[in-house]
Amino acid sequence: MPSVSNQNITHDDQSAESFPILLAEDEEISRRLTAKILLKAGLKVTWAENGLEAFKLFKKQFFPIVLSDWMMPEMDGLELCRAIRSSSTSGYVYIILLTARDSKDDIIAGLESGADDYLSKPFNPGELNARIKTGIRILRLERSLKKANEKIKKLSVTDSLTGCYNKGYLNERLPKEIKHALRYKHPLSLIICDIDHFKDVNDTFGHQAGDEVLKKFTQYIQNSFREKIDWLARYGGEEFVMVLPETDINGAGVLAERLRKKIAQLKMTINNKDIAISASFGVTGFSHPATALTITTEKMIAKADSLLYQEKKEGRNKTKVAGL
Ligand code: GH3
Ligand code: MG
Ligand code: MG
Ligand code: MG
Repeated sequence: MPSVSNQNITHDDQSAESFPILLAEDEEISRRLTAKILLKAGLKVTWAENGLEAFKLFKKQFFPIVLSDWMMPEMDGLELCRAIRSSSTSGYVYIILLTARDSKDDIIAGLESGADDYLSKPFNPGELNARIKTGIRILRLERSLKKANEKIKKLSVTDSLTGCYNKGYLNERLPKEIKHALRYKHPLSLIICDIDHFKDVNDTFGHQAGDEVLKKFTQYIQNSFREKIDWLARYGGEEFVMVLPETDINGAGVLAERLRKKIAQLKMTINNKDIAISASFGVTGFSHPATALTITTEKMIAKADSLLYQEKKEGRNKTKVAGL
């Protein structure tokens, strides 16, 4: 269908281009006139000659604003409204019905089919633009709320100091990872690591330097990961859990040992002071467990924790691996 890109964006509506409009109108002169008004206002318009054609376009590309005539062949404006409302869309669709019918009952029917607003024909350019502006205002509000929600959601699962996931996220996601691995018979491993004598780092270099060590330690581990597959959560003060989907305990043991060695050699310079640390690693996991039912988040963490406990007793800076 003909699509006309934006020519000039109006001064008071800088981002009008990000609200492309789908115009459905069967009557050619009316269609051209309406498109012209919208284009003049700096809006991006794609048009269709009836509701069905409009819906086909809509399914291919998301339009946040739909301006639809009521009476059209194939699929009328009300049917188009209902079809759009019952589709799952990536954002809200603001629908304005264009109608020559303006009895109260018609208006109610239009709004009940899912339209947000209606405009009686014939309308003048100012009126159309004002209605579109209202729609854009609402869509902007929706977008900013969505952004704020995403930010809140991200903050709620993130550890504020290190930027990795927090314990709440671990408790929520690990059971899902376990369930998924068991269902598809995939391996899953978990590594707990705890920085050795971290209290001494704080006592010697100060709490702030300790914070920097935690940040660098986290960054280092995250950089050693397979992006988007493995993930890291802060389990406690200086204790972290790495979750490695699709990795058996042998692979996880190799990774933990590699990390342990590197961390022990890592040179961290904080406030012009060189700080050396080491960490202990407890590794557990499963591949094809005979008793899938007994595998839980608590059991995996308890197992890795018990390995860590042994290491601390045996002198620290160690990796221990054991199946569940
Ligand atoms: P171990 O080798 O047995 O693990 O000894 P440790 O000193 O690392 O362990 P311990 O549990 O005795 O002490 C943990 C320390 O971690 C004490 C606590 O103040 C410190 N800590 C916990 N959270 C933070 C934090 O966010 N920032 C800083 N700087 N220190 C923290
Ligand atoms: Mg018509
Ligand atoms: Mg410690
Ligand atoms: Mg600890």
